[in-house]
Amino acid sequence: MAELYADIIVDISHEKLDRPFQYRVPPRLADKLEVGMCVSVPFGNGNKQIKGYVVGLSETVNFDPARIKDITGLLQKGPGSEDKMIELAAWIRKNYGSTMIQALKTVLPARKSVKKLEHRRIERLMNKEEILSLLGECERKKQTAKAKLLRELLEQEVLPYEWITGKLGVSAATVNSLVKAGALRVAVMESFRNPVNLSGTEGAGTNTGDTLAAKALSFDQAYIVDEILEEYDAGKRGTYLIHGITGSGKTEVYIRLIEEVVSRGRQAIVLIPEIALTYQTLLRFYKRFGERVSVMNSTLSPGEKYDQCERAKAGEIDVIIGPRSALFTPFPDIGLIVMDEEHEGSYKSESTPKYHAREVAGEVARLHNASLVLGSATPSLESYYRADTGAYRMFVLRERLTGGSLPQVHTVDLREELKSGNRSIFSRKLQELLADRLEKGQQSMLFLNRRGYAGFISCRSCGLVMKCPHCDVSLSEHKGGRLVCHYCGYTESMPKLCPKCGSKYISGFRAGTQQIEDKLKEMFPGVRTLRMDADTTRTKDSYEQILAAFSNGEADVLIGTQMIVKGHDFPKVTLVGVLAADLSLSVGDYRAGERTFQLLTQAVGRAGRGELPGEAVIQTYQPEHYAVVHAANQDYESFYQEEILYREMLSYPPAAHMLAVQIFAKEEERGKCLAKRLADMVKSMEAAGQAADRITVMGPTAAAIGKVNDIFRFVFYIKHTKYDKLVEIKDLLEDVLKVWAPRQESVQFDFDPVNTL
Ligand code: ADP
Ligand code: ZN
Ligand code: ZN
Repeated sequence: MAELYADIIVDISHEKLDRPFQYRVPPRLADKLEVGMCVSVPFGNGNKQIKGYVVGLSETVNFDPARIKDITGLLQKGPGSEDKMIELAAWIRKNYGSTMIQALKTVLPARKSVKKLEHRRIERLMNKEEILSLLGECERKKQTAKAKLLRELLEQEVLPYEWITGKLGVSAATVNSLVKAGALRVAVMESFRNPVNLSGTEGAGTNTGDTLAAKALSFDQAYIVDEILEEYDAGKRGTYLIHGITGSGKTEVYIRLIEEVVSRGRQAIVLIPEIALTYQTLLRFYKRFGERVSVMNSTLSPGEKYDQCERAKAGEIDVIIGPRSALFTPFPDIGLIVMDEEHEGSYKSESTPKYHAREVAGEVARLHNASLVLGSATPSLESYYRADTGAYRMFVLRERLTGGSLPQVHTVDLREELKSGNRSIFSRKLQELLADRLEKGQQSMLFLNRRGYAGFISCRSCGLVMKCPHCDVSLSEHKGGRLVCHYCGYTESMPKLCPKCGSKYISGFRAGTQQIEDKLKEMFPGVRTLRMDADTTRTKDSYEQILAAFSNGEADVLIGTQMIVKGHDFPKVTLVGVLAADLSLSVGDYRAGERTFQLLTQAVGRAGRGELPGEAVIQTYQPEHYAVVHAANQDYESFYQEEILYREMLSYPPAAHMLAVQIFAKEEERGKCLAKRLADMVKSMEAAGQAADRITVMGPTAAAIGKVNDIFRFVFYIKHTKYDKLVEIKDLLEDVLKVWAPRQESVQFDFDPVNTL
């Protein structure tokens, strides 16, 4: 049998990860040792036994085999947060496909050699009598500076150094001479940066005071808190899904649960999509947890991020709020993880390891024996399915606590508009309501749900969308006029006439927010507009600035992409127009319906948050589509029932699991060839499988965006009912790739992908 060698990290910190040490695996450990395990190894000249972690295994040795040392033995993992981090990284590696180093880099904070904030202070060492006699001496010798400092020390035992050398005007030399005389010392105090800078929040707090103070919970809120706590105190940990519209009091429930868990001596993590992490939310937590809460987000410097981890380790904070990376805060004993807006796509990492924060949160909860609470107004199919099948426990909050009523929704059939000669991007209903709002001085929002590319082809006369006959997703238009399926690679040529109704109005849909703004100004001269999209929000604060300007009434109409449907409340908005629901409905992937339902529900819910009732207009070529119909009725349950049928019928997640294998290549032919070889390998397993164990392979095909920065991208998809089977296939492909060792091509794995590549 070939010798086995292990790469071992002995100092577990982010910057040492790339320098593992190689050890020989003694035969008795050969079939036991796995990546992620904890071992004891001899280290250095003295061969001192120290603890290390296995990050890789190989049959080749990197240096003189005569000098390589043996692993001494396995060590049990302990309860420390470091061992938990290693275990988590090993889990991520296994379930998402990456190297152990990549997984460790994901879970460990990058240490930045930034200096801690230092305060110096002066501490008196002599008693008052001694100071007095020294003072007398200095006065006699006319040493006025020394005397000045000594007089201060008579009053106060401790003085801030900056104040002494600044305001008091005593030089550092003077301070030093008194240090030599033994009268005082200079102490250096270190502190961690606290990014929660809410100084002056007293004022802000009084403005919105009533919304920030602890509330008597409503009956439904109290029920949720009681039930979860009862299970918690009985030693039962679970995953709970709170299904409740915006404003139904979910955050209040989270805060109450966190208070209880913290009072039991444990810590809590609150995950929130970055874009939803507003000042208001932060303030609410700050009012309840004060200095014991911190944030983690992309605006923090690496030093600040690192400091938050140190504060968590040192027990200085109990609660952290942040986007998905906040999951990796090294708390010693996590009792609760909350994930708000759990359906958000941003919880999925788009770089290797392509983990989903919901699943990783589940694993962190398992490692710490914590409970997990998910919340959403429009739960992901995954979570609702699990609640439906009993894996999660679900609670529902039905009422909006802030008042306001659900808006009246008009669904406009754009095919009818065309028939009656209206070729504008605004339907007659929308024009009428916009004019009405402008006259009344009320605000409107126009929403273009443009997601990624939207190269689909539809008929403006009958609404037909060109779909793949095999995958039931929309075909996309590629250069050269061919229509392509992004899952299986099926193609057909672009039709000249609609195959269903024969009209010539069959084409791609193209409109941007800029165009909408121009058209709006043409139609309503003098209208004041604000635009929010990827272009207008490039700079750091522009997002908040646009929202603030709109909030202050500086515009009549806010036009934007999906960014505008999240976050802030605008009480003065009484009209929301969705310009083309079809844009997200026809993106070529299986989540298109779910995403459309979520976006439309959120968009519609933007109108009528205040005193005045709201209205919404949904413009679409497919008014009969279930995602549109149920969003218009704000009816999640009915949407779910139809959507899950579709997923079950076509074996899409969550009814089954799906692994995307992505191939990146410098040369198109080589990439194509590698993709085909890998896919063929999986297909040969497919043929051998039993019916219940059937593996389905779709593709390979060029990726939706086939070439980026001169790198060609190919993809194929594998579907199976069991996640573990896909992990097995991934492991197998990894092994094969080790042997083939392609030089110019690389391969990535994406489990249950959220975005098409
Ligand atoms: P969600 O997180 O579901 O959007 P929030 O917890 O933010 O809901 O609550 C919405 C609004 O209702 C907030 O202004 C909050 O202060 C208020 N609120 C929450 N719970 C109560 C309660 N029990 N009594 C009165 N007001 C409440
Ligand atoms: Zn047609
Ligand atoms: Zn297809």
